[in-house]
Amino acid sequence: MISVSDIVKILDQIPVWKTLKALPGRIEALERRVAELEGAKLLPGKLPGEPCPACGMPGLRRTSSKVSSGPFGVLGARDEEWTCESCGEIDHRDNVR
Ligand SMILES: [Zn+2]
Repeated sequence: MISVSDIVKILDQIPVWKTLKALPGRIEALERRVAELEGAKLLPGKLPGEPCPACGMPGLRRTSSKVSSGPFGVLGARDEEWTCESCGEIDHRDNVR
């Protein structure tokens, strides 16, 4: 008579069985990751911002933009402030368009 442990030993020799055995752990890890992303204060229907250099969340959005007071302002350079909606980090950028 074949015991349950014999059946498990037979199943362990089948490659797809190893993948199936790992699925519960992988699903749990993905559920945790989704919960983390949902906690990023992103509003439904709102596109994610750029990744924040301070906290890594996709909440960085441009909050101000003005012509650069530097020598490249006449050429279209702009001084921009990008604020993170997750941690409040403010990133100053010089952009040329
Ligand atoms: Zn941030």
